[in-house]
Amino acid sequence: MPSATEQQHTFGKTASLSGTSLHTGDKVTLKLHPAAADHGIKFKRADLQDEPTIDAKIDNLKTVERSTTIGEGSVRVHTVEHVLSALSAMGVDNAVVEMNANEPPIGDGSAQPYVDLIKKAGVTAQEVPRKFLDVREPMHIESKTGSLLVLLPDDKFRISCTQAGPDNRFTQYLSMEITPAVFEREIAPARTFVFYEDVQSLMDKNLIKGGSLENAIVVRGDAVLSKEPLRFPDEFVRHKILDIIGDLALLGNRIRGHLIAVKPGHGVNAELARALAREQTRRSALAGPHPIPIGEGGLAPDEVMQILPHRYPFLLVDRIIGFEGETKVIGMKSVTINEPYFQGHFPGHPVMPGVLQVEAMAQVASILLFKLTKKSSRVGYFMSADGVKFRKPVFPGDTLIIHAELTKARGARLAKTMCHCLVNGAVVSEGELMFTFLDT
Ligand SMILES: [Zn+2]
Repeated sequence: MPSATEQQHTFGKTASLSGTSLHTGDKVTLKLHPAAADHGIKFKRADLQDEPTIDAKIDNLKTVERSTTIGEGSVRVHTVEHVLSALSAMGVDNAVVEMNANEPPIGDGSAQPYVDLIKKAGVTAQEVPRKFLDVREPMHIESKTGSLLVLLPDDKFRISCTQAGPDNRFTQYLSMEITPAVFEREIAPARTFVFYEDVQSLMDKNLIKGGSLENAIVVRGDAVLSKEPLRFPDEFVRHKILDIIGDLALLGNRIRGHLIAVKPGHGVNAELARALAREQTRRSALAGPHPIPIGEGGLAPDEVMQILPHRYPFLLVDRIIGFEGETKVIGMKSVTINEPYFQGHFPGHPVMPGVLQVEAMAQVASILLFKLTKKSSRVGYFMSADGVKFRKPVFPGDTLIIHAELTKARGARLAKTMCHCLVNGAVVSEGELMFTFLDT
């Protein structure tokens, strides 16, 4: 049995908080609602028609200029990093964050109001284990502006951060393991800080209507201006750690690793979250079961042909090895020297064309979509392929293992899938394929 800290957690009840939004200066009410296991964190815009929700996922990240904005379609929520930081660090895995504006209340510029709210809602364990991403080998991200993030293996989530202002003024360093108790005591109270030269231009652009000394510390030269004195002598580096936790929360899974951050910012933080998300996808593709004999729930060749209209030489799936839940499928194709395309691609040097690997991915993905909609009268059309990469050549004699995972479905009309082809456990090609459906 996993210990209590390894279970997913949500709230005991709904709790709400009102305040002013930073950028528009409007009044906003934020409500934290409990959510089911594996739901993740979603923001809900209760002020818009149909109350759309946005997944707090790195794929939905839109901009990182000064704060973190996520969106889906035309719907946006801004400045999500402080509330996400509090949710993640206080151990909340599943929640609906409902707001009647496009931004949470800024409060005092720290995560303290959200920690108080989370405690008011109560954090309770759920029956499903938490998902972790274990850092297995060092990774690093470096920016042109001098930021450096290095992630090392560790069995806990630790951050060692160095913050430095312009001309290295206010250089501060702090290292700690992030736990709910440490976050509440050491990190959550640390407020946003800005350098005067930066806010002046924002004020001119009218970008911070709700901004004042009540919700940020302003640094002018060597002077620190704020409504109340500094809460910690090194309050700035603490706020940087707060922002890192919030930005990395967009990964979804919890990180077990030691992050060494030098001059971090939303841009590099997001870049690291993206790199980690790619690593996560790659691992889940590699981790799939690869037994060639058909497992329960798999499809034999004749069953594949009942679903797909394709026939030799254009049928590029031999069988379906199995399904994982509702959203994943694994298929296989034995690539033999008898394939007609090897005659010309290339004479004396047979290599499977990359476009046919994409076609194989599309056929496997179609089987998944067919299973989901369970309607044979609908035809899925292949609309687009993004991020297609061919990493290794595929030769006669190889067995292509084809993974397809549904990543997004918009109504019953659109579906997005992430697909990988593997040979001997290594990714040979990948791509994100989008489909639309038409009734026949
Ligand atoms: Zn911040």
